[in-house]
Amino acid sequence: MKKKYLLAPGPTPVPERTLLAMSGPMIHHRTPQFSEIFAESCELLKDVFQTKNDVMILSASGTGAMEASITNLFSPGDEVLAINGGKFGERWGQISEAYGLTVHWVKVEWGDAVKPAAVKEALDANPNIKAVLAQASETSTTVQHPIEELAQLTKDRDCLLIVDGITAVGVADVPMDKWGVDVMVSGSQKAFMLPSGLAFISLSDKAWAFAETSKCPKYYFNLKKEKKNIAKQTTAYTPAVSLIIGLRESLLMIKEEGLDNVFARHARLAEAARNSMTALGLTLLAPENPSFATTGVYVPEGVNGGAFVKYMRDELGVTMAGGQDHLKGKIFRIAHLGYIDTFDMITAVAAIEMALTKFGHSIEAGKGVAAAQAVLIKGYKSATPA
Ligand SMILES: *Cc1c(COP(=O)(O)O)cnc(C)c1O
Repeated sequence: MKKKYLLAPGPTPVPERTLLAMSGPMIHHRTPQFSEIFAESCELLKDVFQTKNDVMILSASGTGAMEASITNLFSPGDEVLAINGGKFGERWGQISEAYGLTVHWVKVEWGDAVKPAAVKEALDANPNIKAVLAQASETSTTVQHPIEELAQLTKDRDCLLIVDGITAVGVADVPMDKWGVDVMVSGSQKAFMLPSGLAFISLSDKAWAFAETSKCPKYYFNLKKEKKNIAKQTTAYTPAVSLIIGLRESLLMIKEEGLDNVFARHARLAEAARNSMTALGLTLLAPENPSFATTGVYVPEGVNGGAFVKYMRDELGVTMAGGQDHLKGKIFRIAHLGYIDTFDMITAVAAIEMALTKFGHSIEAGKGVAAAQAVLIKGYKSATPA
């Protein structure tokens, strides 16, 4: 027997409650029974997105909603600005290019957050740019980009701020309406504590106006059509029925915990991850603007990062992510989003300590765990002395 722990930045663990909800007999999607579940999920989603506008549910992974935001709002030849500081920023630009848009790239060193001044400079120099494409949390480099500042730049221009919040919605406070984010996308297998297969997208009024003139080809991902169907408590095509049943359950869990508590838990887990790793003498990939969803850590000199992550997964039963592209073999990423709490983090840190020792890297075992405990205990009430 080897008990398995999943601490990857998607898919993330699914709570027992959600698994049970999804295990019932299949129901038909054009029924009052399904409509009720769908409508309740749509309402609860608005709270998590912090918007008054509809949140549309697509049957796709998160990238589907990224693609939908490009194809539904723009036309070939339109200019957009993509913040490229990691794998997912690169993806924004690639999707745009695939549909014939002209991409202005703002390059950011992997591990750094974008400087709003660099974006402002590009917008001033290219007044035809119709959108800034950003990640709230760039999962590949474990960085949080300054979305509120970016929204200040797009607010008074004929330009949208389109945010990939796939590891930010339900993790960190990125209030869409309050900050003036025009498009927010997310996906089920991250903070929503579900299997992969659902993508979520919400548009501001300013973004809906762009949808009126968009000429990019589209059929399945048609947001205007989905919006019309939401009003009728249904979807345009057959939805992922079981996933939506699970979605309601996960959203109820988020509501019961309270959004502020959800953010505080993620902030605490992220701080515990950072403090434990620096206590062990390891170096963080993004010490300046760290994501609340996942923490990137350089493997020590002389340790093969690929073998290290594989050892933790196959020998210790603890799955984390490695690095991508030029960070491959150089880092590991501890994910701490979704159905993750104190003792998952303790497990992760203990596993890292044990693996480091096995790889011949000398550490004081328990030092990282103690640093994590010191942060995590703050999430609990004081004990009443006997
Ligand atoms: C996981 C992730 C994606 C990709 O989502 P898929 O569900 O794999 O399509 C995009 N952006 C970010 C920031 C992510 O973390």
